[in-house]
Amino acid sequence: METAHWKIHKFGGSSLADAGCFRRVAAIVSSRTTRPLGIVVSAMRGTTDALLALIDSAQRGETEHEQSLAPLRDRYHEAATELLSADRREAVMAAWQKDADDLGDLLRAIALVRSADSRSRDVAAGYGEIWSARLLAAFLAQESPERRVDWLDARRALTVHQTELGPSVLWDRSRQRLADALPEPTPDVLVITGFIAEDEQGLQTTLGRNGSDYSAAIFAVLLEADELTIWTDVDGVMSGDPNRVPEARVIETMSYNEAMELAYFGARVIHPQTMGPAVANNIPILIRNTFAPERPGTRVVTVPGRDDEDKIKGITAIDGVALVNVEGAGMIGVPGTADRVFGALREAEVSVILISQASSEHSICFAVPELLADTARRVVADAFAEELASGQIQKVDVTPACSILAVVGDGMSGTPGIAGRFLNTLGRAGINVSAIAQGSSERNISAVVRREDATRALRAVHSGFYLSAKTISIGIIGPGMVGSTLLAQIAEQAGRLRDQFNLDLRIRAIATSSKMLLAEHRLDLQDWQSALVADGQETNLDRLADHIHADHLPHSVLIDCTASDRVAARYGEWLRRGIHVVTPNKKAFSGDYAYYREMQEAARDGSAHYFYETTVGAALPVIQALRDLRETGDRIDRVEGIFSGTLAYLFNTFDGSRPFSEIVADARANGYTEPDPRDDLSGMDVARKVIILAREMGDSLDVSQLAIRSLVPEALQSGSVDDFLRELPAYDDEMYRLLEDARNDGKVLRYVGRLERGGPASVDLVKLDRDHPFANINLTDNVVQFVSERYSANPLVIQGPGAGPAVTAAGIFADLLRLTAYVGGEE
Ligand code: ADP
Ligand code: ASP
Ligand code: MG
Repeated sequence: METAHWKIHKFGGSSLADAGCFRRVAAIVSSRTTRPLGIVVSAMRGTTDALLALIDSAQRGETEHEQSLAPLRDRYHEAATELLSADRREAVMAAWQKDADDLGDLLRAIALVRSADSRSRDVAAGYGEIWSARLLAAFLAQESPERRVDWLDARRALTVHQTELGPSVLWDRSRQRLADALPEPTPDVLVITGFIAEDEQGLQTTLGRNGSDYSAAIFAVLLEADELTIWTDVDGVMSGDPNRVPEARVIETMSYNEAMELAYFGARVIHPQTMGPAVANNIPILIRNTFAPERPGTRVVTVPGRDDEDKIKGITAIDGVALVNVEGAGMIGVPGTADRVFGALREAEVSVILISQASSEHSICFAVPELLADTARRVVADAFAEELASGQIQKVDVTPACSILAVVGDGMSGTPGIAGRFLNTLGRAGINVSAIAQGSSERNISAVVRREDATRALRAVHSGFYLSAKTISIGIIGPGMVGSTLLAQIAEQAGRLRDQFNLDLRIRAIATSSKMLLAEHRLDLQDWQSALVADGQETNLDRLADHIHADHLPHSVLIDCTASDRVAARYGEWLRRGIHVVTPNKKAFSGDYAYYREMQEAARDGSAHYFYETTVGAALPVIQALRDLRETGDRIDRVEGIFSGTLAYLFNTFDGSRPFSEIVADARANGYTEPDPRDDLSGMDVARKVIILAREMGDSLDVSQLAIRSLVPEALQSGSVDDFLRELPAYDDEMYRLLEDARNDGKVLRYVGRLERGGPASVDLVKLDRDHPFANINLTDNVVQFVSERYSANPLVIQGPGAGPAVTAAGIFADLLRLTAYVGGEE
């Protein structure tokens, strides 16, 4: 070990929860190669809360202190037993017992008078730090006999003066006292209690909740340390509270000012006053994770390096705020009004968190801690009693249950558009803003929102600033052949799409009819099949939609790869919520017309989009072509086509050399038909496609209005598939006759869907000239022909493979990309 400047490490309560944590902390301490080390500790997690709760119960007159202290003792004893040899443990526990006796006396006294002043509270609350310092010092001494380890009760060194704005350090006095209290010779490791101090009168006090961070900074100055590391349970200061913003990320470097602003506006990870002493002495602060010490954490310095380009450092919220509004025409142009308001508040010791005054001076609005809202209203009303009586001021009202949202970053200053983006995002998320304020430093923009909206607001704003505007939360329902092919295609292309187009496609859910797999961030697409089996939960479409429609992601889409009516029946509700829908499922678009209209309205209400190109001709751009013709003002007179790859195959193959039934059986064996070939032969599937096209043309057609020629003989409509295949040859003659008849006319047989503008629509087996475009297509191709005003003499023909997992999946993928062109355009 080399002797150098002191280095200070602070471990928070979350890093000292149990024996395992103490070991981790000891390992971090041991891994430091310089000395001396100052190790500032908080109470074990939850201890301060428990101690304060004891005071509260004593205040209520409860006297079972022994009993209430037992859990604290048990926990401490358990950690001490696990960590320490018997004699060390005995010493530590004896000291604990003495403290507990004193604390018991204090609680008894409080219970007698049923009141606890702030001093008694401070005395009781401070024990936790003493206990953890003692335990850690004993453990470090035991583990590293070669080091001199000692511990210091900070009250022996640190003197503070309590002010309205919190404690301020009496530096000279503290320096002097520390010099006296510091053990001789200087220990290699000095464990120091955080949180507690003495006041000028020599009485015990604390630095306020979360104050150990501040203690650490103060001791860093007193000991002239050149670095302060604050170890906690997250990877550093994050762009949002990770408990509320799942997308929060670690901030690499930030300025003291930014850290202070974030802390002041609710980021509990560091106490706002910590930065004061560090700034004055230029001591860099590192925030790191006790549970992942290999990670670099956040570096807080005066001016972050040049690579620091983020305009925004973080987004945070303070809850438990009330908004007070003073309103009246009598304030306009009257000097000193604001002074009177804030003078009255100062006198009543109400701290104001945010002020916003419209330039019309018609109203002054400010936010205060909710607990002080009534006091605030009262003192302001008193101060303006006359004006209220005369009507110059109309009202002083309080809106409780608010939160303040703050966006923080040095780089905001002089960067236009940040406030706009902030408010715009809130607006888009449908969050009402009651007041806004921008500090003159321009390092912070704050908005007051309802408490119940705060988390949603945080997430929306975070995604507005941090995520690609084209981040899409995706759920896939029905990962069968088509669905899983789509997943594979997305997995393959996702990296390129992100790099080239800043498009972030996040598959966050996969659901089969029985099981679903949800991921907070994104699913691993290499191995979703086994994860679905291992970690899948029971499929529930409500929960699925809630999960996909996450507040913290800008857009959500459900991709339905089933053929299910039940799933299709949900589109309306999803669209209305703003969830986009992409699907090859024909049900919703060819079923009940009223539902079709309902979906259109829902999409309008929810500003959502739905795409279903693959319902007709798989990836062939049929619906898109139709839409383009219509939207550019063409008049479509007729659409016809072969919309079934199966039926195309059957009639392309049926040349009289083999019976029709044999071709059907072969096609089935080769997987060209549905498992039950009647689903193809009935014409229903083609009929649905015709309906979809008709509606796309603006006709309110229903399947019942369609003339459908079924190729399933009436007698074979019921019964098993095997029965059907066995009986079908009996009808071969009839098929031969139809073929002969066509041939005699010099024509071919084709199964065609047809649709006239405003007129009849049919699905039929028809005779076509041998040179008709439909007569010469590849075996399983689909083909569609549009006759329109522009394409009249020479129709527009679209032809190509119209079925199969690869092309269908590609068509769905194309729809998904089309969707991204519609959403979140601005970057
Ligand atoms: P410690 O016990 O180490 O003092 P705290 O609980 O006081 O830890 O602070 C760490 C916690 O602060 C994190 O676990 C996290 O939940 C919360 N937190 C709130 N805002 C932020 C933020 N912006 N970045 C990181 N953590 C935050
Ligand atoms: N133990 C104190 C608290 O819980 C101080 C701290 O943890 O920083 O507030
Ligand atoms: Mg803390």
